Amino acid sequence: MILHLHKSNLPQPVGELAASHQAVWFEADDHFVFVLSSSVKEVPSSLEKWVQSAWTCDSDIQLASKNYRKTLREVQWGNTKIGGTSNNTVIIAGPCSAESAEQLEQSAQLLTGLGIRNIRAGAFKPRTSPYTFQGLGLEGLKLLASVREKYGLTVVTEVRDATQLEEIIEYADVIQIGAKSMYDHGILRRCGKTNKPVLLKRGFGTTLQEFVQCAEFILSGGNENVLLCERGIRTFETKTRFTLDLCGAAYLKQHTNLPVILDPSHAMGYAYGVPDLTRACMAMGVDGLLVEVHPTPKTALSDASQQLDHAQFTELMASLHPIAKAINRNIV
Ligand code: PEP
Ligand code: MN
Repeated sequence: MILHLHKSNLPQPVGELAASHQAVWFEADDHFVFVLSSSVKEVPSSLEKWVQSAWTCDSDIQLASKNYRKTLREVQWGNTKIGGTSNNTVIIAGPCSAESAEQLEQSAQLLTGLGIRNIRAGAFKPRTSPYTFQGLGLEGLKLLASVREKYGLTVVTEVRDATQLEEIIEYADVIQIGAKSMYDHGILRRCGKTNKPVLLKRGFGTTLQEFVQCAEFILSGGNENVLLCERGIRTFETKTRFTLDLCGAAYLKQHTNLPVILDPSHAMGYAYGVPDLTRACMAMGVDGLLVEVHPTPKTALSDASQQLDHAQFTELMASLHPIAKAINRNIV
């Protein structure tokens, strides 16, 4: 159950009142928000006199639910707006990893030439093997900062573990939590304490319920700016890297109030399928698309097989515009 409580006359400290009701709480503009377990269906009489409004929820998808907020939340960073009534489909593109100044320079030129505002690239890579490229770390963040400065791009980059969060918060416009970190509570809780937008990727072995409940950890920390990203789940199929759950995307659009982003690159795992899959994602009318593109995919230090080259990406972008037009969305 979600409660909005008047600020005036609320006993202090508020945290003690919340704790005595097993409520998670945070402060909003003109009220406090208490979130109790979804099994609580009636306003506790001990809180009644301060309650402005109350919502019951049928599961612990609470703050993210359409039941609580009927309309899509709007999230903004730089001059990018996603969700709300914008009808925007935001393109987030770039290489899997930040590898060198030259690579990011070439990527930034491609993106700005196509009118794309958001560059993605990982500096801290959550790799499957410890013997492969792990990312340039802080140096990678600094390289991203320089293309940000030079080209006015905003930066989406991932956090691998909570020890890097302060650096990521300093350098990123959007913090990406990778699929393998979806359940990292240190990361989730710290991300709840910043206002930076957080792009949360779905773990590849998790249900939609589990995924959105992880978003609840961030929202209930007081950070309203959460984006959900479906990037493929593991099924019995082995011919493709993962299986992009478009049914899941439809569920998230229908039942949650958070912007939904699709990542066809990590789902497919092979560049040959990425353009068709991206067009299918576009046709679903989602709020954002995340696509990996590299100046020379063959030499990429991570995810080499799935990254588009610049010519393929340019062709893909051209093909998305008529689809966007047909479904009344703006590609930004
Ligand atoms: C990435 O975006 O490069 C990445 C590692 O993605 P995921 O966490 O979805 O595997
Ligand atoms: Mn990648």
